[in-house]
Amino acid sequence: MRHVLSSSQFDRQFLDYLYQLTTTIRRFDKSREGIVYLRSLLPHKRAMLYFTQPSTRTFLSFQSACHILGITASEIRDAATSSERKGESVEDSLRTFSSYVDLIIMRSPIAGLCDRVATLLDATPRPVPIVNAGSGPDEHPTQALLDIYTLTRSLRLRGGIDGKTICMVGDLKRGRTVRSLSRLLTNYEDVKIIFASPENFRIEDDLRRALTRAGTRFEETDEFLPAIASADAIYMTRIQDEYDVGGESATDYTRFHLKASHLTSLKEDCVIMHPLPRRDELDPEIDKDPRAKYWRQERNGMWVRVAVLTMLFDVDSRVQLPDL
Ligand code: ASP
Repeated sequence: MRHVLSSSQFDRQFLDYLYQLTTTIRRFDKSREGIVYLRSLLPHKRAMLYFTQPSTRTFLSFQSACHILGITASEIRDAATSSERKGESVEDSLRTFSSYVDLIIMRSPIAGLCDRVATLLDATPRPVPIVNAGSGPDEHPTQALLDIYTLTRSLRLRGGIDGKTICMVGDLKRGRTVRSLSRLLTNYEDVKIIFASPENFRIEDDLRRALTRAGTRFEETDEFLPAIASADAIYMTRIQDEYDVGGESATDYTRFHLKASHLTSLKEDCVIMHPLPRRDELDPEIDKDPRAKYWRQERNGMWVRVAVLTMLFDVDSRVQLPDL
């Protein structure tokens, strides 16, 4: 693996391996020796976290993942504090980082920027890996990896993700997590995705085409209740109003809010997920229900990112418990 740019680059073999690797890495965290060992894997590496869109979880979990592996992390969280303010192109800025670090983890509002930068850097003497930590409304591949990890773990006693019905709710048009996760779900057998949203937040055509091409069953509906009642997992999302161009978010979305009163209508072992941050679409009362997995999902993100970094730097084979 050279870069992490899009969830379409991963196949089932990769996902199964990442699941095992992440689970093993989490076990290292249970002992002092394990923690010290993980920190000894990459102390000779430096990373740049270039995040010019707001972020809490992705930023902190990547930063923590770097710390866990001994990687030194620097950050830019506002392009106005860099030479972009002086008119430097974002491509030149990123190329500059590659002079100082061994890895660039980046989030930006510009769809396609990560791919452009990866291609640009691959043609330079310092082709450092690029990790897409969110590219506008387009993709968020590491979120999708942690979502798959959480789903696999939560459904492990029920045969895993194969054969399950996953219901995605919310702003499916502009929600990058939905786009990246849907693409990853095409790697599983006999999965059905139900997209539940108001008419103007339906998925985009490119995703429809990708799912059809992959032979993944999907349905689009604006009937919230039947959709959540038939689901093995529900993936709630918020309205992405930062991408509004003409007041799209004024749409009444309350019919799609998951409330504590809905819990009795859900399957007994339904997995409730949300990439967070949440607003009113997910009632905090639900946090107490054992089916709510979003806080675990958040923590899983850190471990999945540790696993991804070990693979990028080719030290994943050194994460073997018996060697401890
Ligand atoms: N944190 C996720 C993202 O960066 C979900 C969201 O912001 O709604 O896409």
